[in-house]
Amino acid sequence: MTTDIQKSLEFFELFEKLASATQIVNRKPDIKGIEDILGKISAMFRLSKGVTRFYKNPAEEEQDEGETMISYDLHVESRPVHTVRFVTRLMSITTMTVYMAVDEPPLTEDELFKVDLTMRTTLAFISRNRLQDIAEQLAFYDDSGFRNIRSFFNYITWKKGSGTMDGMAAVNYNIRHFSIVNDEYGRTAGDTILKSHYDRAAEIIGDNGTLSRLGGDSFVCICKADVLEKLVAFLKESFFTIGTDIKNVRISCRAGIFVVPDGFIISSHNDIMGRIMHAYAAAKTGEHGHIIYYSDSITAAINKSKRIQQQFTESLKNGEFAVYYQPKVNTLTGEICGGEALCRWIRNGSITPPMEFIPILEETNDICRLDFHVLDTVCRDIRRWLDEGRRVVRISVNLSRRHMVNSLLLENIMEIVERNRVPHKYIEIELTETTTDVEFKDLQRVVCGLQKQDIYTSVDDFGMGYSSLNLIRVIPWNVLKVDRSFLPTDDEGADSIRSIMFRHVVAMTKEMGLECIVEGVETPSQLKKLKINSCEQAQGFLFDKPLPVKEFEKRLDSGRYNVDFF
Ligand code: C2E
Ligand code: CA
Ligand code: CA
Repeated sequence: MTTDIQKSLEFFELFEKLASATQIVNRKPDIKGIEDILGKISAMFRLSKGVTRFYKNPAEEEQDEGETMISYDLHVESRPVHTVRFVTRLMSITTMTVYMAVDEPPLTEDELFKVDLTMRTTLAFISRNRLQDIAEQLAFYDDSGFRNIRSFFNYITWKKGSGTMDGMAAVNYNIRHFSIVNDEYGRTAGDTILKSHYDRAAEIIGDNGTLSRLGGDSFVCICKADVLEKLVAFLKESFFTIGTDIKNVRISCRAGIFVVPDGFIISSHNDIMGRIMHAYAAAKTGEHGHIIYYSDSITAAINKSKRIQQQFTESLKNGEFAVYYQPKVNTLTGEICGGEALCRWIRNGSITPPMEFIPILEETNDICRLDFHVLDTVCRDIRRWLDEGRRVVRISVNLSRRHMVNSLLLENIMEIVERNRVPHKYIEIELTETTTDVEFKDLQRVVCGLQKQDIYTSVDDFGMGYSSLNLIRVIPWNVLKVDRSFLPTDDEGADSIRSIMFRHVVAMTKEMGLECIVEGVETPSQLKKLKINSCEQAQGFLFDKPLPVKEFEKRLDSGRYNVDFF
């Protein structure tokens, strides 16, 4: 009898421990400790095994598709002796079955009562804990299993306060041209790469930080500043293999980074988020590289962008965008053989050069409206020159790549040209090279369409970006504009790489039957290089900068430049 009482006391002592260990909320439960107690109680009642099943809903239970957890197992041949089922208000179901070895005597009524009590207490805890996990999963992870933005904000909130993010950095990054990976290797492979990318980044970040997906191929993270260098190297370039035939895919990212200064006060997560997004916006333009560190000047630049975008419509209406013309010159005769229309923003008497506003307008479709305005102005000028009986030359107009997705682009161009009654031979459209297959197809369609209308087309900035010989071979261009970065400087010898490339590009262009013009000719000896290589057209400061229309008209009337000054 004493042993019975003693055993009972022992049980209640353990049970009390179990009850208190499983009651604690708002703190990570001591799973190891709980398992320990359950082990002891199981041994006390000669149990050989305990199995718990968790079903998110009754349907899962019906099909027995739940999760199984085995908390205790002596690995002996056993029979089930008792099962408890627990249903939560959310209709999730947890069941627990305990087993005894086949040769053990069955539980007495009193023993069964105690076992049952233990099982119910444990089950309530397990189901609450599992529900918490599930709630967390839903709240902080997206459908593909990546941590989400809420998790990121949660992390910042946790860290909030002055100085708690000393020595840390936050990053907003996006994988470049990821759609090409999807197009080329398929979505499944794309997803796999995305996941591996995430895993590898998370590994670099380690335990002291967090990584979340904003959506698609955009991510945000927080890490210790001392792993930042490694992370940046990874973001700049990383390689992934996919499939059985092991394709090596190169991934690079654009990133905006904020290195949190010591003592920085975070009053809301926007203090971090806003800064990395600003830095990322700067990285996106690619103007100053693909990895940009936050600084106050970035905020200033962003504000400037916003201002320009806000002013644009009004300025366009007020006629603040003027068209300047830069002469194109025949290198043999010095005659003006054409002109390029270049836009200037004239506001309150000061002139803003295009590089300060075109990239900003390119972030939205505003650039398209500007380009059409320029084309319209050019057409009106040509019409007037014709009506005034002046000598007229072909004028080229720049079209942003943004137009390529406009399926009505051709119609839009022709409408402007026709409305101004301009003979098609006086119009040339300059387009830059393209990077993706999709754009390539659009480009091909547009150029062929213009060709049919006898409107000239030129490849602008050839050699600057992703030069592809395929681009010139497949698309029927009329003119190739060699970028000034290909033009050797005065101190370069004929055997410099650039000189060699320059000679070959000019020769190739001519051989393919295209007109060749070299941009950025600044010195007599550069002009000489053009002549030696039989390149017949030049454009550059040696002759003139882009000129206001009245100045350009004077040049047209007077005729020729001196091309023999060397
Ligand atoms: P781009 O199409 O390559 O135009 C040539 C640029 O080179 C012009 O700059 C011109 O002033 C400059 N340039 C000409 N000769 C020389 C030279 O000898 N030396 C040097 N260093 N530069 C020379 P600009 O007018 O500032 O235009 C810059 C860019 O802005 C243009 O580059 C073009 O990409 C864009 N842009 C200008 N107007 C328009 C427009 O109406 N629409 C679009 N979409 N883009 C435009
Ligand atoms: Ca151009
Ligand atoms: Ca150019």
